[in-house]
Amino acid sequence: MITTRFAPSPTGPLHLGHAYAALFAEHRAREAGGRFLLRIEDIDETRCRPAFTRAILADLAWLGLAFETPVRVQSAHFGDYRGVLDQLAARGLLYPCFCTRADIARASSTRTPDGAPFYPGTCRALPAETRQARLTAGVPHAFRLDMAAALAACPGPLSYQETGLGRLPCHPARFGDVVLGRKDSPASYHLAVTHDDAWQGITLVTRGEDLRPATDLHRLLQALMGWPAPDYAHHRLITDARGARLAKSAGSAGLRTLGLTPAEIRAQLGF
Ligand code: GLU
Repeated sequence: MITTRFAPSPTGPLHLGHAYAALFAEHRAREAGGRFLLRIEDIDETRCRPAFTRAILADLAWLGLAFETPVRVQSAHFGDYRGVLDQLAARGLLYPCFCTRADIARASSTRTPDGAPFYPGTCRALPAETRQARLTAGVPHAFRLDMAAALAACPGPLSYQETGLGRLPCHPARFGDVVLGRKDSPASYHLAVTHDDAWQGITLVTRGEDLRPATDLHRLLQALMGWPAPDYAHHRLITDARGARLAKSAGSAGLRTLGLTPAEIRAQLGF
């Protein structure tokens, strides 16, 4: 049975790009007689607001999208993500990183597919006593995956099944020692999304093309944790009249301010 999900972050009102992603996921489930789930990805407590979560639920209902309940809300499950971090740390695949943004910016000359500075591995090489002293002193730290150790723990090429394109190879090393536990939260997008896709039994991950590079890393995390590998369908991004990608940060218009009915929105987006 196909199970898909729509996984918005409640950092603003839904715009047409979100409506497309939600309709795409629901359509793929419905045409296969499968399940469609909603997940609220609110681990960034500085940017996410409960009021936006309520608005997302209302907007999806207004669009006529029915999803199963209860809806998984990530901020209620930090213990799950912490548990994964503990397991990776116990296997020697994770280390605390005390670097500040400025430290990393100074030491890094390339970027990861996420657009973050590629981490040069400074804290990976810290002597055990220094690391312990800083932890004991409560120095703020993130947790990073030791990429070389992780790749060694998952020998063999990784790939994923992309709808319409077949099996595509993964190159997770491009992410370097990626952050899996943030300084301000015992989780990261990459950790929470892969954990939850496995936990919720998602068999087809649908999301925008912009997240395709992240799939390389997600396959590595799935292999490390023994989680099932879902299939993927990365879809086009909706752009505005000038061809710019819609984004909440750029103040794209909320769905209900467009003066369109739900049927008109569906038609405009090709559903
Ligand atoms: N929460 C992510 C976003 O709003 C999507 C996660 C995913 O589909 O993997 O962009």
